[in-house]
Amino acid sequence: MAEPVHVLAVARLSPLLMPQLEAAFKLHVLPDLTPEALAQVAPLVRGIAGSGESKVPGALLAQFPALELVSIMGVGYDGVDVAAAKAKQVMVTHTPNVLNDDVADLALGLMLSAARQLPAADRFVRAGLWLQGNMPLARKMSGARVGIVGMGRIGQAIAQRALAFNMQVSYTARSEKPDLPFAFLSTVEALAEASDFLVVITPGGAGTRKLIDARVLKALGPKGFLVNVARGSVVDEQALIEALENGTIAGAGLDVFEDEPRVPERLLALHKVVLTPHIGSATAATRQAMADLAFNNLASHFAGRPVLTPVPECQT
Ligand code: NAP
Repeated sequence: MAEPVHVLAVARLSPLLMPQLEAAFKLHVLPDLTPEALAQVAPLVRGIAGSGESKVPGALLAQFPALELVSIMGVGYDGVDVAAAKAKQVMVTHTPNVLNDDVADLALGLMLSAARQLPAADRFVRAGLWLQGNMPLARKMSGARVGIVGMGRIGQAIAQRALAFNMQVSYTARSEKPDLPFAFLSTVEALAEASDFLVVITPGGAGTRKLIDARVLKALGPKGFLVNVARGSVVDEQALIEALENGTIAGAGLDVFEDEPRVPERLLALHKVVLTPHIGSATAATRQAMADLAFNNLASHFAGRPVLTPVPECQT
């Protein structure tokens, strides 16, 4: 019988992925290993499995001399030191596209929830306040201007949905997309100024850290809403809290936070913010598709076939 391939899960991963890994590989789970056990298996580990939130720094990669592949179940891989992986000739894969619909659906849901105050309306009914009168009037979303920060796979799925609401779509990205029928603005600040809803859907990591800062929020203005379905690191959370407290912007819908799962008390206290616990891709169907793709990247590689979805840095 062939030697089993040793794979390390850097965390207790999705129950949709773990059984597949256990069936195909000799699986080790990092949080379950003593330092001695880790030292023993380290020379054998050829694959690492992680989630979009997993931290896979260079110092961790350096412990596995036989490592060939890091498979991330998620499209964002900002926790992986890809440069260190590449330097060791280690391939990194992720799970793009299969989650576009869900994340875009959530973005529109957060826009509607923040503008039409759906969570507040629900609380209003449950608290019996309707018996005493009507809710204050909300903000119309159809026909408004949406600015999308990051016009990639998910950004385009958000734009498509916004068109169904008769919204005027404009965007910023690192580069203009001449094939798309939307106005390109070269800075986030200019985009914010031209938007009623600013939706953030870039990758996380050093290149986008605090891209949405106090100046951008000021440009969005007192009638503007911010929606973040990207990464908490992309928004200066302190500046956002201050902008919400001072009425510099009208409201926000947030799926991601700087220090998840911890959410600042000051944000929790603000009723003009709609908060969700990083559920962009969290439907049963999509998580299954992500788990299958993350598994198939490992399975393909260890069967001697090319991986299915390498991260862009590993495509050359
Ligand atoms: P993608 O196709 O790579 O698109 C990323 C877009 O961001 C591209 O248009 C890119 O510009 C733009 N961008 C990158 N750096 C930028 C910068 N500094 N300033 C302005 N724009 C910048 O990625 P995707 O598949 O749409 O996913 C985007 C991100 O969504 C993921 O990386 C992940 O962090 C996040 N996400 C969150 C959830 C959730 O649960 N909330 C779920 C899935 C994904 P160019 O086109 O010019 O390169």
